[in-house]
Formats: sequence, C-alpha cells, structure tokens
Amino acid sequence: MKTSNPFITFVIPVYNEEGNLLWHYEQVTSFAKERSLKYELVYINDGSRDRSLEILKDLCKKDSNAHFISFSRNFGKEAALTAGLRKAKGDAVVCLDGDGQYPLETVDTFLEEWRGGAQLVIGVRGVNPTETIIQRLGSRAFYTLLKFLDSQQEVVSKSTDFRLIDRRVVDEFNKLTERNRVARNLMDWLGFKRVYVPFNALERYSGVASYSFKKRLKLALDGMIKHSTAPLKFIGILGMLVSFLSILAATLLIVEKYILGDPLGLAITGTAILALLLSFLVGIVLVCQGLLALYLENVYHETQNRPLFIINEEE
Ligand code: UDP
Ligand code: MG
Repeated sequence: MKTSNPFITFVIPVYNEEGNLLWHYEQVTSFAKERSLKYELVYINDGSRDRSLEILKDLCKKDSNAHFISFSRNFGKEAALTAGLRKAKGDAVVCLDGDGQYPLETVDTFLEEWRGGAQLVIGVRGVNPTETIIQRLGSRAFYTLLKFLDSQQEVVSKSTDFRLIDRRVVDEFNKLTERNRVARNLMDWLGFKRVYVPFNALERYSGVASYSFKKRLKLALDGMIKHSTAPLKFIGILGMLVSFLSILAATLLIVEKYILGDPLGLAITGTAILALLLSFLVGIVLVCQGLLALYLENVYHETQNRPLFIINEEE
C-alpha cells in the first residue's frame, strides 16, 4: 500500500484566507502532480468572513480532487483539523496551513519517512519569521512548564500541526471523543512510531495570522489540562510548601521576638504578621481555586456532549 501508488489526503483548515487559497491550491496540486501522487484536498472552511468559501466552492466544482467542509461558524483550527481527519480517505494525511507557511519540500521528507515505516511524521519548527519575541518566549516558557509538569508524556517543543499521519493513526484519532482538544497533543498520546522532521516556517503569502494572544493562551491551557493531572498534584505540593514556610517563618519570629527579646529591633506587631500571612494564604487559595475551576470547566464541557463542530455545507 505504501510503496505502490499511495493515496494522500491534504487537510487544509481555512479561516479568512481569500488571498492565499488559489496560490496555495496551485502549489499543492503541482506538488502532487510532479510526484504522480494519487491525492485529494480536504478544505475546512472554519467560518471565514471573507470570500474564502466562494473560492473553495469554485475550486471544488472545477477539480474533482478537491473537497470542502464548511462550518456554521468559527470553531477554531483544532475542530477544523478534526473534521478534516474524519473526512480524509487517504492512506496517509498531510496537514497543511491554508496560508502556505508550511513548506511543501518538507512533505517529501515526510513521505520518505512514511515509506520507511514511520506512522506519524511531525514537523518541528525552526525559525518563524512572523513570530514576535513575546510569542517565541511565551511558547518556550509553555513547553518548559509542560515538560516540568508532565514527565510521562513525550513533549517535543515546537512540534507543529504540520505532519503526516498514517491511516492507522487517523483511524485511532477519529475514535477519540474529547470535546476540548489540541489535536497534536492527542496524537502524542496515541503513541505509534514517530519521526520528527525539522523545517523552517515560511512567511504568510497574504493576510495576517488569526491566532490572537487569547486563542494562543487558551490552546496552551487546554494542552496542559487535557493531557495531565500534574497541575492538580502541583497544587498539593504548593500547599505543603506554603504550610512548611509559614511554620518556619512563625518559628523564627517567635524565637526572635519572644525568646531572644527582639535583638534585631524588628518590633513586629502580631497584627502585621497576621495580615501578611492572611493575604499570602488568600492568594494561594485563589490560585488553587482557579485551577480547580479550569478542570471543572473541562469536565463540564465533556459532559455536555455537544458536537465538536457544526457542518453547514459539505462536498
Ligand atoms: N485557522 C482556522 N481557524 C481559526 C484560526 C486559524 O482554521 O480559528 C487556520 C488558518 O486559516 C491557517 C491555520 O489555521 O490555515 C493557521 O492559522 P494562522 O496562520 O492564523 O496561525 P499561525 O500560523 O500563527 O499558527
Ligand atoms: Mg500561519
């Protein structure tokens, strides 16, 4: 199946990409044709507000290899990828971005690795020319934290949605029922034979990235909460640490003030100590409550059992 003429599905989420679609379509089709691949394109219109859907419909009318799903509103890239993977019929799926930031030459390496037996070939990001310093520092901090919190799971920082997924993995992925999801982390959880391939993200052909700081933060939190209970354990450790420090501080103060008779001349009043301690503890309690709320929210969404996305049109 892999060596002869494999069938490849390109899954491409689209959110306000009117300026990129045709250009990107040309790129992908000529890529596939040059390599005589059997292929299909699955576009997911994630509630675009520009002319993306019109352009997609037009493309699909002209090219029988192109298909699209159109959501009833913007559900986010994770939902779009999920929808695309469910629709994909290929022996392997290659996930691309509609803005052309993922270089197609790297797909050659993906295919090579796949033919060599890899079931999940993951693109690992090098330099992203459009990434700001804050975004870069933010993602580095996030991965460091994730690694610190969760030593069980293999987390390769800078791994992206740019990847090739074997049919076996796609089938297993499609069985997962989580509502609130980060596709790439779920795939990490699945296991299978993985290979990481470094690449340098290109500049967007046109338009601006639609991932706002808020969306990125949500993705980071989702990634942490959906895939480990380590933060819950962290609360426990934090609590113990705080109690220990309070006891230590109290002991030192009692010794300094009452037993040694305040040799340092600190003249600490009991009220001051109490106030300090109270505000400190209230802070800790609030942090813990916030974390619990996040988990509760997750449970809430899972039990609501809503569909991940609503399809308005499909072809
Ligand atoms: N995207 C999407 N839904 C969204 C936001 C983005 O389907 O709500 C798509 C977008 O069209 C693009 C890809 O996801 O194909 C990556 O988005 P973007 O370029 O905005 O993010 P970045 O390149 O910064 O990761
Ligand atoms: Mg982009």
